[in-house]
Amino acid sequence: MAVEDFANWLRDLASTLHDNAAYLTELDSAIGDADHGSNLDRGFQAVVAVLDESSFGSVDELLKKAGMTLVSKVGGASGPLYGTFFLRFGTALAGAEVSPQTVGEALKAGVGGILARGKAELGDKTMYDAWAPALDAYDEAVAGGSDLRGALVAAAEAAAQGRDATVPLVARKGRASYLGERSAGHQDPGATSTTLLLESAARTLG
Ligand code: ADP
Ligand code: MG
Ligand code: MG
Repeated sequence: MAVEDFANWLRDLASTLHDNAAYLTELDSAIGDADHGSNLDRGFQAVVAVLDESSFGSVDELLKKAGMTLVSKVGGASGPLYGTFFLRFGTALAGAEVSPQTVGEALKAGVGGILARGKAELGDKTMYDAWAPALDAYDEAVAGGSDLRGALVAAAEAAAQGRDATVPLVARKGRASYLGERSAGHQDPGATSTTLLLESAARTLG
């Protein structure tokens, strides 16, 4: 696993988010301010521009730069949250050999950053409702002997279930929480983009 693999992930994710930008924004128009797709598309196009301009000597340098780019280019909740995820994910991989175990620790560190910033709890109808089951499924897969690809596939599948489970929930964090009970019956945009992120990782890493 080299820097190039993680760069390919970020490029694949950028193109996936671009293709899904209208869909993510439509989800956000129901319970937010109709910008989740455009926020992430803008942020990840900036990440791709950085990848095109610079070369990176290590995985952590690459991921930290991606995180800082997201924090600086994306307004709204999702920029700092995903930016912090990539910053902490990268930091956790500094000096480590990439393995199912180290990537699992790094994913946990990244999600720890999302929680530190956003203070979400399970069931608040946020991206954490996709991340939490994904981390559990990842660990379970690794404990059962999965390789990196297999663990990421398991994580992505669990994230999709967590995403679907956000539909009936009443939002308790972010803009959707302003709607109170009226937020129920809609899929959370951030849980949807988190699922896309993990599906992209499962396609490109390992
Ligand atoms: P904004 O709400 O500022 O317009 P986005 O539309 O880009 O930002 O992102 C909205 C998504 O961010 C939500 O669908 C939710 O998943 C996620 N989110 C919002 N607040 C939080 C939080 N405190 N913790 C975790 N995720 C959050
Ligand atoms: Mg929004
Ligand atoms: Mg906004």
